[in-house]
Order: sequence, then C-alpha cells, then structure tokens
Amino acid sequence: MRVGIVVAGGTGERFGREGGKQLAPLVGLPVAAHSLRAMSRATRIDAVLLVCDPERVDEYRRGAIAPDLGSPMLAVVPGGETRRLSVTAGLAATPQDATIIAVHDGARPLVEPGVIDRAIDELEATPGIDGVCVGHPAYDTVKITDGKRVTGTPDRASLWIAQTPQVFRADALRRAYALAEAEGWVGTDDASFVEHAGGVVMMVEGPRWNLKVTVPEDLEVAEALLERRRRGEI
Ligand code: C5P
Repeated sequence: MRVGIVVAGGTGERFGREGGKQLAPLVGLPVAAHSLRAMSRATRIDAVLLVCDPERVDEYRRGAIAPDLGSPMLAVVPGGETRRLSVTAGLAATPQDATIIAVHDGARPLVEPGVIDRAIDELEATPGIDGVCVGHPAYDTVKITDGKRVTGTPDRASLWIAQTPQVFRADALRRAYALAEAEGWVGTDDASFVEHAGGVVMMVEGPRWNLKVTVPEDLEVAEALLERRRRGEI
C-alpha cells in the first residue's frame, strides 16, 4: 500500500490570516484542499491522510477535503508544534502495511498528480535508494553568510532546490523520524531526516512553479497559474 501524507499542521503566522495559508481560499477551495486532491489523484497512491492544526481539526474536516478525491481519505490527524512533530503524527496514523509513503506540503497547491507518480516510479525502479525528492537545480547563486556577511559561495552546479513531494520507502522514513526523535535532531525537510539516518535520497526534477504559499502575494501567483492551467495553456 502506498500512502500520501499531506502536512498542513502549520499555524501560518507569517501569512497574517486566521488559520494561516493552508486554509486561504484559492479558486474556490482552501489551499490545502488542492494539495490533498492532487495527492489523492496520483495513480500510484492508494490512500491519503491530512495532518492539520490541532486547534482546527473540525474546520479541516469540514472544509479542506475536496469533494472529488481520487483515493480514500484515511484520517484527519492533529499535527504538532513543529513540522517534524506533524510528520510524526502522520506516520503514527499511517497503516503498518504501507510500503511507500509520500509526503507533501499542504501549502504547495500547484503540484500535479503526475509529479507524485513520477517520483514513486523513480523510487521503485532504483535499487539501493530510500527516497526521492522533487525539486529543481538552483538557478540562483546561493550565498552562505554569518547572518549578513558572506562567508562562502558554493558551486551552483551541485545545488538543487528541494520541494515536496518527497517519497520514501516506509521503513526508511519511519526509522529516520524515530532516530531524529531519539536524538532531538531536527531537519528542514523529510529527505534530510532520511539522509541524517544514513539513507540515500535522489533528486528528480519537477516544475519550478510548484511554489509554497508563504505570503499573501504567493496566492495571486498560484491563482494566475491555476487559471492558465484551466485554460490548458500550461
Ligand atoms: O512552515 P513551512 O512553510 O515550512 O511549512 C511547510 C509545510 O509543513 C506546510 O504545509 C505546513 O502546514 C506544514 N507544517 C506542519 N506542522 C507544523 C509546521 C508546518 O504540518 N508545525
């Protein structure tokens, strides 16, 4: 069984709206509902679950589950104070017989089901790897600083921007989160937990427009892109 976890457990304080970015309306549906719908419509995914703000579980149950999901909804799970705790809550609610777990940010509503399928196919077709992370090569030069002063400029040729979806062999992801919890280690994306546990992760290139809604202006961009998609232009 392959399970898709959509994490929308953030309170979205930076976004400046009650309920945060995940519940902000975007062409008729909350942001997180788009993300959940895309995950549920990936043909490789058998069931989905949604992790949300623990204070708003009922609100998510009522409003953030799109009416036209492509696979069964297992549960709406209260998240935690950090993304790590939210993913841990999602993993605890994931059936033990799951072999593949895909994790996607609720705040990335533009993902298309085919991108999730491609990542899973890549994982299943590549022996010896534990996960596949969707992203794209860095187009901008990245600076390392001590806050402001530049202390280094890594070679851009080796840098990728990591997004979600990120897909994993279930045992590797569970082990990685258990180890991090035991050590009190925190990473910034799911792949970093698996890397920290010694696992092997491969990048696959996804579309650059798979943006994460962070500030209100991002919604305008997302809306324009969804409109173009509706017209079949992209
Ligand atoms: O905060 P950030 O934008 O990096 O969050 C990425 C994703 O992780 C969002 O979809 C957010 O809802 C989720 N998250 C979570 N639980 C938290 C913090 C963030 O599920 N405590």
